[in-house]
Amino acid sequence: MANDSIRAVSANEPMTNLPRVHSSLSGAKPIYLDHHATTPVDPRVVDVVVSAMTTRFGNANSVDHSYGDEAAELIVNARKEVAALINHDAEAVHFTSGSTEGIRLAVRHAIDSRPNPKSPLRILVSSVEHRALLDTVRAAELAGEAVVSYIPVDYCARLDLDSFQRSCTNGVDLVCVMAANNEVGTLYPVEEVARTAAENGARTLIDATQMVGRVPMHAAKWGVTYLVLSAHKIYGPKGIGSLVTPHAVFRDSHASIAGVSDGTPNVPGIAGLGEACRLRRIEMVSDEPRMLMQRERLRTHLLDAVADLVVNGDTSARLSNNLHISAPGVPNDAVLARLRGHVAISTGAACMSGAQTPSHVLRAMGLSAAVQEGALRIGLGKFTTDDEIDEAGAHISHAVLATREA
Ligand code: PLP
Repeated sequence: MANDSIRAVSANEPMTNLPRVHSSLSGAKPIYLDHHATTPVDPRVVDVVVSAMTTRFGNANSVDHSYGDEAAELIVNARKEVAALINHDAEAVHFTSGSTEGIRLAVRHAIDSRPNPKSPLRILVSSVEHRALLDTVRAAELAGEAVVSYIPVDYCARLDLDSFQRSCTNGVDLVCVMAANNEVGTLYPVEEVARTAAENGARTLIDATQMVGRVPMHAAKWGVTYLVLSAHKIYGPKGIGSLVTPHAVFRDSHASIAGVSDGTPNVPGIAGLGEACRLRRIEMVSDEPRMLMQRERLRTHLLDAVADLVVNGDTSARLSNNLHISAPGVPNDAVLARLRGHVAISTGAACMSGAQTPSHVLRAMGLSAAVQEGALRIGLGKFTTDDEIDEAGAHISHAVLATREA
């Protein structure tokens, strides 16, 4: 199915030979700088997905012919690629519809296999987790299956490690800490969190949705019990992701529905996830430093152009593609309205309903109401060009200044 704009290329082929995924300078579409919400699908991933829907369309559960064998092989390969990206065992890779489902499955598994079935699971979560996790543990608490306590963060969204240590010593069964924050980009010490949890007899659930494919991970060595990731954050398709855990999460949960067998796997999605992971493994080493330079260029431009602008989050331990800024007291929705048609950025997390609610992350960081009101999240991607950065910088600074003067 390869055509002129979508074709298979070797991962070593220079990116300049690839078709443009989205061009804003052509004037057709706004410059896309909301890559924490989702990423465009890499044309090379599209190629693999299309092939799994056309030439290699077999049912992976068909054992009687080569079509089934081919589809099954795609799944085996994808499993290996997911595992290789985060340095874990292929057998630990379970496919899900994305991180939200991975989180729900992991929490369900931890509850069902808790050390003391007569008591609720003791869950400790960072206060800046994604809503998918906070809502899941809250629902478990309301159902009487869990008691939840929270790890505070500082003004940069860094974990209060003393509080974390104290809570672990007091007794905990499951620690949930994200690897990187989806709003302000702060990175978390996953290895240290998993070690401290294990020393205190607790399991860990790491939401690695934003970190995977950007920062090298060693999930098995770090002793992470459950790790979730999602293809659409790493230039793969939506609706597919993985829960990585040595536990047989599906077998254990399906055991309650005796006699029910697994359904037909989403082979195109799974193959796309595998290819996205393969490309990230090979290319993150060159993509990430480039995005970091572009991010710094944009940051410098905005700080020069807009008086009193503040950068939120940790300035050192931070995702290379993240820039989170505030023009205190300048309403962010009015800034976004001015940017519409020019630059796509956001005020924060894109929640399931699409509704904008005050950010629990910025509140947990203790930022002033004025800083929260002016918050803007900018997320660069691997297809972002220097020209787009310069053009977006001019638009964003102009929109903020114009809104401030209005
Ligand atoms: N966790 C984090 C940190 C995220 O950024 C997201 C998506 O925004 C999710 C979980 C949910 O992922 P999915 O869309 O794959 O369900």
